[in-house]
Amino acid sequence: MSRDSNDFDVAVIGAGIVGCASAFRLAEQGLRVVVIEREHAPAMGSTGRSAAGVRLQFSDETNVLMSAHSLAEYRQMPQAGYRPIGYLFFVPQEQWSSHCAAVPLQRRHGAPVQVLSVAQAAHIVPVDGSGLAGATWCALDGVVDPHGICLRYAGRARALGARMVFGAEVTAIERGARDWEIQTRGERIRATRVVNAAGAWSGRVAALAGLRVPVDAARRVVFASAPLPPALQRAQPYPLTIDLASGFYFRSEGQRLIFGQSNPRDVGFSEGIDWPWLDTVVESSLARFPWFEQVALDRRASWWGYYEITPDHNAIIGTDPSEPRWINACGFSGHGVQQAAAVGRLVAQLACGQEPFIDIRSLALARFSEPAFQGGQSERLIV
Ligand SMILES: Cc1cc2nc3c(=O)[nH]c(=O)nc-3n(C[C@H](O)[C@H](O)[C@H](O)COP(=O)(O)OP(=O)(O)OC[C@H]3O[C@@H](n4cnc5c(N)ncnc54)[C@H](O)[C@@H]3O)c2cc1C
Repeated sequence: MSRDSNDFDVAVIGAGIVGCASAFRLAEQGLRVVVIEREHAPAMGSTGRSAAGVRLQFSDETNVLMSAHSLAEYRQMPQAGYRPIGYLFFVPQEQWSSHCAAVPLQRRHGAPVQVLSVAQAAHIVPVDGSGLAGATWCALDGVVDPHGICLRYAGRARALGARMVFGAEVTAIERGARDWEIQTRGERIRATRVVNAAGAWSGRVAALAGLRVPVDAARRVVFASAPLPPALQRAQPYPLTIDLASGFYFRSEGQRLIFGQSNPRDVGFSEGIDWPWLDTVVESSLARFPWFEQVALDRRASWWGYYEITPDHNAIIGTDPSEPRWINACGFSGHGVQQAAAVGRLVAQLACGQEPFIDIRSLALARFSEPAFQGGQSERLIV
């Protein structure tokens, strides 16, 4: 049977870094792919608002592998703009043994993680060590350019024949015997499979098809400083530094610092910069890094965006338990940029019925309905 120009093997909903990486890898498999995006360009959702961190320091093997494979791919991609500025975790006494338990696993997968005393770590970033047991440092961790990566994947997908439809919010999805019928504001598109890569909106998109995906939006603010005063300037950038006691983090961005701290109560689609939260963030910064007193805020350079969170703060990757033609690639809970390259490959393997190259059984949607799931083993909400 011939298929018309609105007929595809796979429709990817969302042109963020996950949707574009998926589209590229799907098109590479020879599939006819359409990417449907509400905004007028790629990377307009969380992708364009992230703090751009990439780290190998995760506590479980699936996350370590997804970041390690993605980082390996980004390192080969000039557009990714990878800068190995390192991640430095300051760890309080009560988290020390569980935090360090993951170090052998991280090292086994190529992460040169060092366990440091507070005094050693203070040579990298001056710190008030009250209540701290030590620090871990991985020099391969760093930052990338999420826009550059996303646009690169979008370009490669297009070059392989994928169609990109922008300004096209998906408003209805019907399940047919053979195809999905996807209604956008402008046209009706048919596809045999759907990839739900709609980021913080994935739960809403799934609901259009009568499916349940537990992804909530959670606003996160990135505060930006003014260019640092001469006393704080240095030749090496400040690494992505995290105080695990409070969750406060910062890193260099050019001559400035960017910094923030998750507000666990800020769940839902609230908009704009949460200025009242700044008090808490400043308090956390001064308690651990007293030199922050010399750091001035640049209100206009600060921004906000949505984390896409799941109940255990880990992604949902895989086909829907009731509908194998629906693939979820969402719920990254603040670490989607650093895992998107691996996710693109995994989505293509799932769509083609191949064995996933990383064991992603722990990321199956079905985990949330198992009796054993009591909040699960939660990844921490850090960048
Ligand atoms: C402040 C902040 C800091 C972060 N820091 C980091 C970090 O340091 N490292 C890291 O790895 N990650 C970080 N993240 C998380 C990261 O940005 C996300 O995990 C990642 O961008 C998810 O990519 P995505 O493609 O799944 O989603 P998105 O980039 O949000 O893309 C989803 C797309 O779907 C589109 N869409 C939604 N609904 C519809 C619809 N109905 N019809 C059509 N299109 C639709 C949206 O417009 C959007 O473009 C951070 C996020 C924030 C907000």
